[in-house]
Amino acid sequence: MDTGNPGPSSINELKSQLDLHKLSFKDFDSIVLTHLHTDHSGGVSEILKEVDLPVYVHENAEWTITGGINEFKRTNEFFYSFMEECGADPREHMAIRTYREENWGNVSYIRDKDTLPMAGISFEVLYVPGHSQTDIVLWDPKTGITFGGDLLIADFSVNPFVEPPPPGMENRPKSLLQYRHSLERVKNLPLGTIYPGHGEPFMNHIELIERRLAEQENRCFNIQECLLSGEKNVYELCGMVYPRLHGRMIFLGLSQIQGHLDLMETRNMVEGYNKGPVRYYKLVL
Ligand SMILES: [Zn+2]
Repeated sequence: MDTGNPGPSSINELKSQLDLHKLSFKDFDSIVLTHLHTDHSGGVSEILKEVDLPVYVHENAEWTITGGINEFKRTNEFFYSFMEECGADPREHMAIRTYREENWGNVSYIRDKDTLPMAGISFEVLYVPGHSQTDIVLWDPKTGITFGGDLLIADFSVNPFVEPPPPGMENRPKSLLQYRHSLERVKNLPLGTIYPGHGEPFMNHIELIERRLAEQENRCFNIQECLLSGEKNVYELCGMVYPRLHGRMIFLGLSQIQGHLDLMETRNMVEGYNKGPVRYYKLVL
């Protein structure tokens, strides 16, 4: 489940961890990806050079996996205009991504409520978008054992990353709204031990979800305070709420702020409007 970052150092680390358990890539019969972020899916190509394994990933990963250079360009163009809309200079703040041709061979696309057998256990697939558009959680209703990917991490709150809309669609998904919906859905399930994508396993997901939802309320409150002095764009709000973010790290803050503004807009707390290419927000009084 998940393969770590691209490049030899991550793969070597994975191999030495497997070594400790007297295992190698040959002992596996599939690769399951909890989502398509590069720190989870980056090692797939390296592993497939050594063994031929089917890859299971959510169906929304398909256009990225099969879309080639055109999809890569569409994504870059989306992030360029998102930066502009935020009021940030894309040349200074946009992450530089390089196109890598990948061929994963045997990919199976999975969806919500599918069952995936792993190690003799029938895991149920839950589609839980928000952190990305491809997040899944796998859980065993019998034991509660859950592979949580990046849905919930015990030590830090997860960013609802802004992503392009699916090909042919006009509007970007509202990531924080999706993420909150995913949290509410999972909160009602009797999950047991959760094995997350980062950090130690944990239980008590209900308490953690409530804490994360409360943190979101606090962020909305902070943004509201910042807007008391008048209209702001996302970049300006990011500078006030996350003053230590610089350069290409700015995107993390822009995603957070945009997500919370989307939420505040649905609650009628703020109003967004365009001034040229830049979108501004003001309090609804
Ligand atoms: Zn992630």
